[in-house]
Amino acid sequence: MTNNFNVHKTWSKILKLILAHYGKDIFNSWIKDLKPIEYKSKTLTIESKNKFINDWVNSHYLNTIIDISKIINPEINFIKLTTASSKPNKNEIKTIDKEEKTEDLSIISCRVDPRFNFKNFVVGKPNELAYSAALAVAESENVIIPSNPLFLYGGVGLGKTHLMHSIKSYINNNNPDRKVIYISAEKFMYYFIKALRNKNIISFKERLRSIDILMIDDIQFMAGKEGTQEEFFHTLNELINNHKQVVISCDRSPSDLENIEDRIKSRLGWGLVADIHSTTYELRIGILQSKIAQMKIVVPEEVINFLANKITNNVRELEGALNKVIAHSTLIGHPINIESTHEILKDLLRHSERQISIDFIIKKVVLHYKIKLAEILSTSRSSNIVIPRQVAMYLAKEYTKHSFLDIARAFKKKDHTTVIHAVKKIKALYNKNSTVRNDINLLIRQIDH
Ligand code: ADP
Ligand code: MG
Repeated sequence: MTNNFNVHKTWSKILKLILAHYGKDIFNSWIKDLKPIEYKSKTLTIESKNKFINDWVNSHYLNTIIDISKIINPEINFIKLTTASSKPNKNEIKTIDKEEKTEDLSIISCRVDPRFNFKNFVVGKPNELAYSAALAVAESENVIIPSNPLFLYGGVGLGKTHLMHSIKSYINNNNPDRKVIYISAEKFMYYFIKALRNKNIISFKERLRSIDILMIDDIQFMAGKEGTQEEFFHTLNELINNHKQVVISCDRSPSDLENIEDRIKSRLGWGLVADIHSTTYELRIGILQSKIAQMKIVVPEEVINFLANKITNNVRELEGALNKVIAHSTLIGHPINIESTHEILKDLLRHSERQISIDFIIKKVVLHYKIKLAEILSTSRSSNIVIPRQVAMYLAKEYTKHSFLDIARAFKKKDHTTVIHAVKKIKALYNKNSTVRNDINLLIRQIDH
């Protein structure tokens, strides 16, 4: 840390760039009131008013804020968000409690992010089903029975939250009488468990019935809380039976949810299950062009192609890379070009180039077990093929960011449950069987050097 590091001065410079980057709406809603607290061990600590703002900034803006901060001062490694430690006195607690008993359910809904709407969602093959289903839910005056519940699933950063926010803002603008609640699964569980605990569950459910659309984001975070799970899914069921539209998002398909009863999983899959696949090159180009048009800036085609080629994991990372390039040029006042792009994204690309592909893993496994590529990709059930195949699937899950479905495809399997089963089995064998363990350890050393 440099001696003259002035937290407030640094933060105010960072704020200027954040404002330039996100525009007034987001800046005023989420960023303006953040307060710098201290800079220690390369970490800048920032305080927000409450946990909600904290969570929101964390999940939506933090990565970009870190990137921007590094531009202002490359020594900043991390930004830590804390919450003002308000300790209400007893009277205040009482009032809060009283209010909660009569609270309008709509306050549990999170506010929509104005950046996320149907207009700026770029549609392509990987997401067209999810997009059309979400749009149909938003446009419809009534519940669409075959799409109830609408179950959106896909890996991180592929647009699930964006689509849910789009539904809510569309309805808020076009059909303001329809009551829509959008909430994260974690927050929903919090209210739900609180109502159970306070023996308010009946009135909680009644109030739920008064809404038209309930959207719960990232439902995978609910798995494992068995006690309340049962009650919760009963509630969902009741809503569906009462013709309330339910929209759910998840990072996996209903059948892949762990620690959730089969009966409940199958219920979740009764409506429309729409998966969002990994992006294609065309979609990435489309998304970059759309973001660039929105920001009214000029980015050379060469740079766009480069980004679409290199940043392939998900849309969030793609946006992050673009933002970084733009923030840099805003700051130094130079136009964006391919050389500066290489330079700015050097670390990011080194990281992503180090990423291991499924094919690479398969090659190593084939060599190690001295079998043929065609055999590992075949349907052979003989044990000298099955074990290597399962080991390769296991390593692909552990050492790449690919989903079960992607891995199944790489192995020419239609059904991703094969991969789930393989991963489970190899995990168990790893502990029990020293040959398997030694093989895996050897392979890991080759893959993860
Ligand atoms: P998820 O909820 O699936 O993890 P998000 O909805 O948060 O992903 O999307 C991550 C980022 O990528 C968001 O900023 C979102 O606006 C953007 N994004 C994702 N898909 C698209 C798309 N098809 N068109 C435009 N932006 C997209
Ligand atoms: Mg999300």
